[in-house]
Amino acid sequence: MSMRIKIAFVIILIVSVFITLNYISNRLFIKKNITEAMEQDLSFARDIGDGLISMKITLLRSDAETVAERLLKAGRAEKMLKEMAAQMRLYPDFISLTIYDRKGIVANYGEPVDHDVFLSEFHYIKVAFDGRSIISTTHYNNLSGSLIMHVFVPMGKDMVLSATIPGMIFSDLLSKYKLWNTGNIFLTDENGKAIAYYREEFVLDLVNVITVGQSNPEYKDIGNFFSKMITDESGTGTYMFEGVERICSYKRVAGSNAGWRIAVSVPLSESPMEKTHEGLMLSFILFIVMGAIASFFVSGIVARPFYKVKAQNLELAELSEKVMTASKAKTKFLANMSHEMRTPLNAIIGLSKMTLETGSLDEKTLINLKKINNSGITLLSTINDILDISKIETGKLEFVSLDYETASLINDAVTQSIMLKGEKPIQFILDIDEKLPSHLNGDELRVKHIINNLLSNAFKYTKEGTVTLSINCEREDDDTVWMTISVKDTGIGIRSEHLNNLFTDYNRMDTFANRNIEGTGLGLSIAKKMLEMMDGSISVESEYEKGSVFTAKLKQKFVSDTTIGTEVMHNLKKFRYSDNRFYELSQLERIDLSYARVLVVDDVEMNLDVAEGLLEPYGMQIDCVTSAREAINAIRDEKVKYNAIFMDHMMPEMNGIEAVRIIREKIGTEYAKTIPIIALTANALVGNEEMFLSKGFQAFLPKPIETSRLDAILRQWV
Ligand code: ADP
Repeated sequence: MSMRIKIAFVIILIVSVFITLNYISNRLFIKKNITEAMEQDLSFARDIGDGLISMKITLLRSDAETVAERLLKAGRAEKMLKEMAAQMRLYPDFISLTIYDRKGIVANYGEPVDHDVFLSEFHYIKVAFDGRSIISTTHYNNLSGSLIMHVFVPMGKDMVLSATIPGMIFSDLLSKYKLWNTGNIFLTDENGKAIAYYREEFVLDLVNVITVGQSNPEYKDIGNFFSKMITDESGTGTYMFEGVERICSYKRVAGSNAGWRIAVSVPLSESPMEKTHEGLMLSFILFIVMGAIASFFVSGIVARPFYKVKAQNLELAELSEKVMTASKAKTKFLANMSHEMRTPLNAIIGLSKMTLETGSLDEKTLINLKKINNSGITLLSTINDILDISKIETGKLEFVSLDYETASLINDAVTQSIMLKGEKPIQFILDIDEKLPSHLNGDELRVKHIINNLLSNAFKYTKEGTVTLSINCEREDDDTVWMTISVKDTGIGIRSEHLNNLFTDYNRMDTFANRNIEGTGLGLSIAKKMLEMMDGSISVESEYEKGSVFTAKLKQKFVSDTTIGTEVMHNLKKFRYSDNRFYELSQLERIDLSYARVLVVDDVEMNLDVAEGLLEPYGMQIDCVTSAREAINAIRDEKVKYNAIFMDHMMPEMNGIEAVRIIREKIGTEYAKTIPIIALTANALVGNEEMFLSKGFQAFLPKPIETSRLDAILRQWV
């Protein structure tokens, strides 16, 4: 789903909820008010109807009473009949006049009535005998066939006058009144029979809805309603009639002592409520449609920035893809460059070192050669830094945890960095105690790198005074040890405003003041990143022109409770770290390996020269080949049994790793499987050692070859 549709959907949802809530609340509110108003309207109409009917009843009764009085005065029978004729002319509502005594008809004028009336209507007549006038319900005259009613009034003590009136008299009266469209007003007798109804046939057929309802389920609802109506004095309710829901308000007719009910009923559909609901519904739909249209436009506006962001994201993704590709290309380029640069550097450092070691040089050549060697070493460390940072950036830096000796770690780190002291009057203090664990588990190479870096800086940026390296270990829990490395110097210090930027890539401070000090601005940044990857941290305190303290903290794994002890501690502290590496090198006591024979594999002749030069002092026999293929053949032939192979990594045709795989897996002899193979490579990107060890190599010797490292490897493997 597109962003715009989503937004439109959300907006319309919110709008709909609001509109619906509004609609419901309006409906409820209006319903309450309209129902009240409607009930008032209905009862008002009903009361008017009641007034009309009651007035008519009263009028008919008083007319009949007047007639009765006059007839009584007439006395004798013939006179009475004459009077009847006169009265009939006076009161045209009366269609006949009949006088009853308690036994039956005494006199009758106008439409004839039979004795059956006397019998069937006796309960009304009895009311009149008891002194009250009453109007009976409708019935048919058997003799004339017309629908009639009677007004019974007392006539003296022993007689009752019945004034017959047309059965439709009340229907005619009410038929004029309409309420709304099909609303109407009607009259029932005390039993629920229709006396006046908007549908004339109901009156003519003497329909009683209650009885009809009892036999016909279609009229059940109205039947029940009418039953309730004739028992209640007044009320309002609804019922279904012929599929239409009607609301009805009723009451006992005030003027009727028989118990008639007058009622007003309207279909609910005609009520203003329905109309209002229709209106509400219409506006509801209208609002929803308008809301939908509006949200369509609004979503367009709202979505615009999203689309923009999306487009930008897409651009960014493309860009980042490009950057990633470029970055990969860069790393690959660097790895290749590493090889390309290290090969000549190897020759520069190695050959100059070899020449320096001959010891038969004049002063000037010696100085120049030392400069060449030093520059080579500096250039190598710069290349190493750049390679390291690119490895870190691309997430290719891996950590391998192995057990290592704490003392050798310290010794190596100090030996490597102290050469930067040069001839400067600096006292180096190693602040450690005998309780340092003799072994720890972690990535020794990285820890060494960090110490080396801090210590090198201290020597670089201190002109005179002291440089102190303190190493402390604190057990955290069963398997964790916190190592704190602190390097303190009395050097040039760092301006407080520079402290924050120290750990940024390629950032060098006080470049003018430090213009004579070599550096890339990468060392601290690499150290910090490595520490962070090892759950560690680094901090610095410094006073400008007074000195600095760098403190690194990192976690290592606990190995054993054994400590380095006093002897090793003293040896480490006493070790006279000399800046004259060549002196040291020539002093290096080489073991005699004249019995041994080794094979060196490298595609570059110059590298073979260097390797030969470095191996020669051990008195070994050295064979050289320039391709992996030749090396494999030499091992397969077994013409000569070598004690070890030094194998270059990057070679055309077949690289060293592939060659080792073939030697280990394809040749099949015990000799081929076990002969020590040492990786000799310029591809010394940080982290490669582990890779070589996992590919069947026994050791890893980065180029340019470090004499001390070579020595250690020869001792172990040859
Ligand atoms: P560089 O290769 O320049 O030494 P670093 O990342 O190791 O790069 O250090 C960054 C900068 O921090 C240095 O250029 C130097 O200005 C400052 N710095 C580092 N260590 C010290 C120190 N011990 N004393 C004074 N300044 C230092």
